[in-house]
Amino acid sequence: MPLETISPVLKSAPPRLKITEIECHVLLAPDYDKGNTSSAQDSFVVVIQTDGGVSGVGECDANPWMARACVEAPGTHTMGLSIRDMLIGANPFEIGDLWRKIYLGTAMNGRRGMVIHALSAVEMALWDLCGKAVSLPVHALLGGATRDFITPYASLQPAGGRFEDYRDALCLSAERAQKLGFKALKTEITMNGPYAHGGMRENYDRHTDVLAAVRKTIGKDITLMVDVQYLWEDAATCLSVVKDWAEFNVYFLETPIWSDNLHEMAKLVERAPMPIACGEWLATRFEFEELMDIGKVQVAQPDVGRVGGIGEAKIVCDMAKARGRTIVPHCWKTGISISATAHLAFVTNHCAFIEYLPPQLCHERLRRELAQEELVFRPDGTIPLPAKPGLGVEVDWDVVKRYKAA
Ligand SMILES: [Mg+2]
Repeated sequence: MPLETISPVLKSAPPRLKITEIECHVLLAPDYDKGNTSSAQDSFVVVIQTDGGVSGVGECDANPWMARACVEAPGTHTMGLSIRDMLIGANPFEIGDLWRKIYLGTAMNGRRGMVIHALSAVEMALWDLCGKAVSLPVHALLGGATRDFITPYASLQPAGGRFEDYRDALCLSAERAQKLGFKALKTEITMNGPYAHGGMRENYDRHTDVLAAVRKTIGKDITLMVDVQYLWEDAATCLSVVKDWAEFNVYFLETPIWSDNLHEMAKLVERAPMPIACGEWLATRFEFEELMDIGKVQVAQPDVGRVGGIGEAKIVCDMAKARGRTIVPHCWKTGISISATAHLAFVTNHCAFIEYLPPQLCHERLRRELAQEELVFRPDGTIPLPAKPGLGVEVDWDVVKRYKAA
């Protein structure tokens, strides 16, 4: 079965290394609250060790206990093999071949969803490992950076359970992000539907009120994106509200309807007064192919920790380019995933922005404490090219130890 994959681009033969161990860490923030809607309260961190002493670290955005089971479960038949067994003894530089082997070897249980999310963490760790082994940053292994800087957008965080508190928290967060230098912001406006903040149930007019308040707070020159997190079930209901949003100059509207409802998505794309963005939950190029070709979305949002890893995200970026679509990756995790996302963006010129949860503004302790990415956020709102080997991430292993739940 032909299945294009991506491996490190190297000018000379890499050192001979063999994978000796896969460590899986299930992490949970101590102030974790099951009632919260943020997935940044947990993390699944994978460390891959080699016989040469070099190791790599990766992360995915999925339930960490489930992800660990996907990596550690023993195989039971030829289309249900063990991810761990397929990795032990392998050459870590053969990332593409390993990806294909794992994708095919887990096909009866995987192909999409959790197994692919878990594979994302493994694949990310391999890129980090290879970069460290040859002293090159991941963007160099991906063929070389094609830009000197990238532009992050700040994801604003709401608070409270009442309309006024929710609205005011977003406006305050917007003001603070603007002061830090961000040139682009994304506000969630989700006070209803399956993903509603704190189970809120407000009418749609009030969603427009929040958008108006945030836009008024930041002025007209800042790029503003809106995430309504699957608020509507169909295009007609969505349009009845967002048809009036043109005056707020929305850069994109994220996940207005359920991810699987691609035919409704296409109807919306045709008539909405702003581009539609989607993709945060999707796994593999195949789901993005459907999203772009059936759903017609203008902005594809692969998450490196869910789509299948850095290589799979790159393949999705190339597919988007061929279709004239924009890339704005999703990322709601720690410095490990943020760094992986940035390396991808540095080799992807049609990546307009990356999602960035500013540590100064976020509630999530794992985001703030687990890993220090090398990225420098400059007052002009950009991030310059990172230079450290691998992902360039410093993990605080004391935090790993302290927050380890399994
Ligand atoms: Mg979202």
